[in-house]
Amino acid sequence: MRGRRREQEWDATHEVVVVGSGAGAMTGALEAASRGLDTVVLERTALLGGTSAYSGAACWLPGTQVQERAGLGDSTEAARAYLRALTGDAEAERREAFLRHAPALVARLERDPALVFEWRAFPDYVAAPGRMDAGRSFVPLDLAPDELGDLLPLVRPAVDRDRAGLGHPDAPLSAGRALIGRLLLAATRTGRAHIRAEHRVTGLVTEDGRVTGVEARTPHGTVRVRARRGVLLAAGGFERDEEGRAAHGVPGGAAWSMAPGGTNTGEVLRAAVAAGAATALMDEAWWCPGTELPDGTAAFTLGLRGGIMVDATGRRFANESLPYDRMGRALAAARQDGPRVHLVFDSREGGALPAVTVPSTAPEAHLAAGTWVRADSLPELAGLIGVPAGALTGTVSRFNGFAATGRDEDHHRGEDPYDLFFADPHDAPGPNPCLVPLDRPPYYAARLVLADLGTKGGLRTDADARVLDAGGRPLPGLYAAGNTSASFTGRVYPGPGVPLGTAMVFASLAVRHMAE
Ligand code: FAD
Repeated sequence: MRGRRREQEWDATHEVVVVGSGAGAMTGALEAASRGLDTVVLERTALLGGTSAYSGAACWLPGTQVQERAGLGDSTEAARAYLRALTGDAEAERREAFLRHAPALVARLERDPALVFEWRAFPDYVAAPGRMDAGRSFVPLDLAPDELGDLLPLVRPAVDRDRAGLGHPDAPLSAGRALIGRLLLAATRTGRAHIRAEHRVTGLVTEDGRVTGVEARTPHGTVRVRARRGVLLAAGGFERDEEGRAAHGVPGGAAWSMAPGGTNTGEVLRAAVAAGAATALMDEAWWCPGTELPDGTAAFTLGLRGGIMVDATGRRFANESLPYDRMGRALAAARQDGPRVHLVFDSREGGALPAVTVPSTAPEAHLAAGTWVRADSLPELAGLIGVPAGALTGTVSRFNGFAATGRDEDHHRGEDPYDLFFADPHDAPGPNPCLVPLDRPPYYAARLVLADLGTKGGLRTDADARVLDAGGRPLPGLYAAGNTSASFTGRVYPGPGVPLGTAMVFASLAVRHMAE
């Protein structure tokens, strides 16, 4: 939409328009409103928070006062060494902006009584200089529901409740819900942040080469909202858009993505491209293994305490205790040799999956639906999942041998601090708590798929989160953060909380630039 618009053609005018309501968007809204800028948040669904509300709310924001309080010895320099080792210098400007801004952002956020964070042990994901073996990410404290008052019904329920109907509606807001709830509380208390749910942004308005507003569909018709200073696109990726995934070669599937249903289909990304924006990393995502659920969706699967993963040949293909993004990449490669990958486990946990799954589903429901199978012997199990019986029994007996010696000679499971983080030493009879033998029938096999926490490619942006065109020039008035933008971490997931931490920092930088 081009050309000069007269004031009366706008349905509303604000200084800053934020599209989406995840952690990046809400940080941007809070930062803008705290700077005295009249701000509006436009959220497509009736609920705020998107995937961020489902998340564990780990924020990877290094070198801040939170790590200092925890006495971790973390520093910006250590984080720089780590990021450089993993991603090189191709994105040095955005990396430096992130590292420089994170401590100041956290200091500012924590000055607001609504925002309190606490370090939580969760190791960084890759062995490289500057890694923190115990982790450097932190989470918000839980929030009592009554603190939110009338705002409470606006916050998206936790994933177990939203997707599986589990949990109590009046439970304290924890993890991602606490993060969204706290940011919402702080932003609305300024009196300058307005929240508009059920506003689906479908187009950008440009005038004389500058983005001056957005067009949004609401239950009451289409509205045009003007942004005097800028539009911040923080509306997730395109993980829920099957066509977009296919067009850009993103493996996995929209139904297996962990974004809430009805959220991230990438229309703001397409609108920005139509306005001249360039994109990068469009085949990437924040990967994870997914346990296939009876309804055809998937559950984020991490933190294995036992079991092994086998491919269509009945063989292991990776260290099953890898961080989930790296395991997802291994799973994607294994699925190229055949669509079937299974997590095989025994009965030592009473028939429950020896892993964390989000959302959780009862074993009986899986067995009834055929997403899991059970058998009294390994050859019988092999028959049920269609792998050669000799291969599966050979794989298990070799693995059980590793469990006895404590050394996984094939994939080195249990040799990295991350592997040990979820291990249960009480359940492993041998010397390596990550190598738990499979010797208690009946045996189970759970179907695994390649899932994701969101796509990772998107709009190209600079160190001020300005959206760039193909020539590297900023599109005036347009900014992006979170999964709407291409991550500066490229094809690596450095540690727990990088998606949220980077979204929050670049949303804040966008607003700072708008305010200048
Ligand atoms: P979202 O949080 O998904 O927000 C996007 C919002 O924009 C949605 O509400 C959507 O409805 C809205 N929207 C979309 N299109 C439009 C439109 N056209 N108009 C208006 N609004 C629109 N990451 C971490 O860093 N730390 C963790 O601890 C962590 N734990 C996780 C645990 C789980 C179970 C899951 C599923 C993910 C986890 N992640 C974690 C990943 C992280 O949650 C996501 O990568 C991140 O929340 C994405 O943020 P976002 O702002 O880009 O998108």
